[in-house]
Amino acid sequence: MKLETLVIHAGQHPDPVSGAVMTPIVLSSTFAQDGPGNHKGYDYSRSGNPTRNTLEACAAALEGAEHGFAFSSGCGATTTILHTLRPGDHVVCGDDVYGGTFRILDKVMKPMGLAATFVDMTDLARLEAAFRPETKLVWLETPSNPMLKVFDIEAVCALARARNVPVVVDNTFATPFAQQPLKLGATAVVHSTTKYLNGHSDVVGGLVMSSDAAFSERLRFLQNAIGAVPSPFDCFLVLRGLKTLAVRVQRHSENAMVLARWLEAHPDVARVYYPGLESHPQHAVVKKQMRVPGGMISFVLKAGGDGDTAARSQRFLSALKVFTCAESLGGVESLIELPAVMTHASIPAEIRAQLGIDDGLIRISVGIESVDDLRDDLSAAFETSRGA
Ligand SMILES: *Cc1c(COP(=O)(O)O)cnc(C)c1O
Repeated sequence: MKLETLVIHAGQHPDPVSGAVMTPIVLSSTFAQDGPGNHKGYDYSRSGNPTRNTLEACAAALEGAEHGFAFSSGCGATTTILHTLRPGDHVVCGDDVYGGTFRILDKVMKPMGLAATFVDMTDLARLEAAFRPETKLVWLETPSNPMLKVFDIEAVCALARARNVPVVVDNTFATPFAQQPLKLGATAVVHSTTKYLNGHSDVVGGLVMSSDAAFSERLRFLQNAIGAVPSPFDCFLVLRGLKTLAVRVQRHSENAMVLARWLEAHPDVARVYYPGLESHPQHAVVKKQMRVPGGMISFVLKAGGDGDTAARSQRFLSALKVFTCAESLGGVESLIELPAVMTHASIPAEIRAQLGIDDGLIRISVGIESVDDLRDDLSAAFETSRGA
């Protein structure tokens, strides 16, 4: 079945007791056993819970995976995956990776003996040079955040497979509607469901999907042993949000395409980063591996009358009425932010400069409102932010 159908039906059946069409929220932490050790598949809700298992089954189907694992956050999922490795192992990771992933590798795992090298994977030669004999994992995030670089998942997986190294793809920005990394050779996919999968900015959660038997068995053990599991209520909300994933992502992407083209032609805009534009440096890879280019755009304004781009960006964000100035992304509402001051403030200024994250760079998560209202809002803020 197609994704549009799977998001609504996969893993879900009317409740056998009541006939309830929607998945019940089973809050019970423990389950009655007929006799010691003789239970109906559930004994304790950290180990397994009916609402969570339904979400995991649905999530697995969306990525074409055998197994799904739900976590309390995207970072909880990432941390649990990294516990499949051992001290002395080495990870090759994209250089423009989610800030929290960088922080886990640099501040949590490094002191525990796990080494990481951060490379720009648009250059496959640099990726090849980063492999060491002790490299045990490649961590790939595409499109990247906030520069929206796109990496060739199939090419990266081929290089890793030749060295017997598994690849984990963070598919949060693209969603399984836009790209399915397991079909391109990845061992596992990780999502922050906080973003597009839930899609309504009211859950923090994570998911991992994989068809690799050994990896999945280890992850199932670690999910229970480490215990970064989501509440049944949050699992219900993600299941509910997922039902509209296909229509939402389609609309996010259509709106973003309209705004990106309009921004690119606007006299007040210096640069636009959007995978759907022909001017995007990896546009050919985008066309090869993505069904739609997604709802995230980054851009740089031209300086206002005072010659200060960052100051104009601040005025621009404060002038908007429909866009909300906030971190996060992937909800139905349009959000806007300054990465250097907000989401990426924890990255040292010199690394931000290397990555191209100027102090005035603006990132938008395009919502599913009327694109006319979004464009009018941006247009009015261009006027008022110009300055003397
Ligand atoms: C938000 C995000 C994460 C982390 O997820 P949380 O749910 O906030 O822990 C990981 N990767 C990407 C690409 C993200 O956007």
